[in-house]
Amino acid sequence: MKICRFDDNRLGLVRGDMVHDVTKALDLLPAARWPLPQGDLLIANLAKLKPEIEKLAKAAPGKPVASVRLLSPVANPTKIIGAPINYKDHVEESKKDQGIAYGRVLKSIGEFGLFLKANSALVGPSEGVALRFPDRRNDHEAELAVIIGRSGTRIAKADALSYIAAYAIGLDMTVRGPEVPSFRKSIDTYAVLGPWLVTADEIADPDNLDFELKVGGETRQKSNTRYLDFGVARLIEFASEFYTLHPGDIIMTGTPAGVAPVAPGDTMVVTMQGIGEMYVAVRAAS
Ligand code: MN
Repeated sequence: MKICRFDDNRLGLVRGDMVHDVTKALDLLPAARWPLPQGDLLIANLAKLKPEIEKLAKAAPGKPVASVRLLSPVANPTKIIGAPINYKDHVEESKKDQGIAYGRVLKSIGEFGLFLKANSALVGPSEGVALRFPDRRNDHEAELAVIIGRSGTRIAKADALSYIAAYAIGLDMTVRGPEVPSFRKSIDTYAVLGPWLVTADEIADPDNLDFELKVGGETRQKSNTRYLDFGVARLIEFASEFYTLHPGDIIMTGTPAGVAPVAPGDTMVVTMQGIGEMYVAVRAAS
């Protein structure tokens, strides 16, 4: 099942090139009041909503998905987790290019650990990326994004995949520089999630997905998640050794070689096997 959030927070079921408005399924969500429970309400209740979404979609006329404004399919994660240096070829390009490494000694993800991106950076593809420092190097990082479905801590690798609700394409946008990654990668709009979420049952093996990022028709990044150093299950195990994962938490699993600058006016096109194609425009922040 492919589920999107679109226009004015409508809920959509995506089938082929069409989106069916199933917003009424949100009536099944429990009423929430302060203090809000940890985690995204929709993702936490996704299994409960699925039959209703299917039912509503049958009666909902579709409209072209290209005609709607796609927002982040996760609205309220408790955290966005980033996996640095998780593809060998990206580690190698970073060692050769001080425009990426800035004098840092790159070891391994196991030694470096994970970083967090601010939740306020999260946008959907139609919101685009706004460069706050257009005079600095702003790179795209195309990544598989994993969306956690239920709370868990100290999750064993063998159980890890059962904690996944869905997958999406992630863009871990990055301004290069000497600051710590969590700061440089947390600029508003620097965490793009989309174009929709694909429920976990549709992806047999998240560690074997082809993906590609193009800018202006030119291929910049092209890889497969089989080249991840820490694969998806190990990332969940590793993250949850340190903190509890909640429904809607997003893990951006890392980026392969080919990271490169974008400029206002560019459009990034990212495709991922089993998920789809995502268009993200770049502009200067006003
Ligand atoms: Mn990254």
